Amino acid sequence: MAKKENKYKGYDITTQAIHTGTDYDEGTGAVRRPLHMANSYKLPDDLSQVNYSSTDLLMYSRNGNPNQHWLEEKVAALHDADDAIVLGSGVAALHALFWTLLKSGDRVIYPNVSYMAVYRMFHELFNRKFGVETIMVDMTDLDAVKQVITPGTRLVHIETPDNPTNGVTDIEAIAKIAHENGALVSVDNTFASPFNQKPLELGADFVVESLTKFINGHGDAQGGAIISNDLEAMDRIRYEAQVNVGSVISPFNAWQIFRGSVTFPLRMQRINESSQKIAEWLEQRENVTFVSYPGLPSNPGHELAKRQMKNGYGGVISFGVNTDDKTVERFCAALKVVTFAVSLGHDESLIFPQPSYDERINLYPEKFRKGFIRFSVGLEDPDDIIADLDQALKSVGL
Ligand SMILES: *Cc1c(COP(=O)(O)O)cnc(C)c1O
Repeated sequence: MAKKENKYKGYDITTQAIHTGTDYDEGTGAVRRPLHMANSYKLPDDLSQVNYSSTDLLMYSRNGNPNQHWLEEKVAALHDADDAIVLGSGVAALHALFWTLLKSGDRVIYPNVSYMAVYRMFHELFNRKFGVETIMVDMTDLDAVKQVITPGTRLVHIETPDNPTNGVTDIEAIAKIAHENGALVSVDNTFASPFNQKPLELGADFVVESLTKFINGHGDAQGGAIISNDLEAMDRIRYEAQVNVGSVISPFNAWQIFRGSVTFPLRMQRINESSQKIAEWLEQRENVTFVSYPGLPSNPGHELAKRQMKNGYGGVISFGVNTDDKTVERFCAALKVVTFAVSLGHDESLIFPQPSYDERINLYPEKFRKGFIRFSVGLEDPDDIIADLDQALKSVGL
């Protein structure tokens, strides 16, 4: 596919989020582009004119659909990138990238703290099923990365800030180490979002975003994206993973995410501010054992985050309370403003305990092994959120 057109390049991200990827509807003059739910498109009378290998071709919606393409223009613009591929979920995007880049015998280095599906793919699936050599490392420790990387390593995958501990990885330094060894670098940017962090500018080759989270932001659609300036690799991903494995997004979900993304920068600004305030409050609260948020000076990744994150530190706060799993559950259930549910980046605040029996708990730094909670700050009034956390903590004797 050709480089994505961005008529608003150079404008602020708030302006780009409103204007890129949209236009008047040619048929009706409507000020919004339509939702095309068709799965098939009329072919020309002369089939010799059809270029079946073109990823621009509108023929069948698994090969691409207009709502997907318009959202791709927008997501590419949010990252100041030449191209984006939008697929059915964040995990579909991660899988599409790994599936296309890796083959048996390749070496991939991945972080000890990462999204659950990345852990599953590299800890159990790509290694056992396909003979990919998968090496887990503490990505926040540059010396540890230098020790395991070898010339010819195919891929280094980073997640920063990471889910669920909010650890911060130095994208620029890892990209340098990786490129010196001939490896590509992919960054899962879901926690930061492009409002706060643009890994391509820091040397990454590929970025993955779960659009389900902050970019859609309304808890009502699932999608994921791969973003890159490597047009050749991106077309290979379209061909190998979208067309031939089938991870395409539904036009309706693409349409919904497109709509949600219009207010993404404004929501993110609010979420950054509220999260900072709530993290500072939690840090002072008795019976809170630790708060991991990159915006807090107490966070070991704070100085690095200040360098590589621009507008703020995101909407997820990881914190601990001095109690057992059962009491943590009772605390979550006692909240009235905050919703007890998985996911993050929605309009409403969401809370989810990370129980001490999670099989990955010993991969996390020590302090995360007891009373650990992941909290996604929403758009409610931050003082209402603080009051709610306080009343629920008190209600379970904390
Ligand atoms: C949620 C999430 C994903 C997966 O996205 P889905 O849209 O749920 O498939 C990947 N990475 C991170 C960091 C996430 O938080």
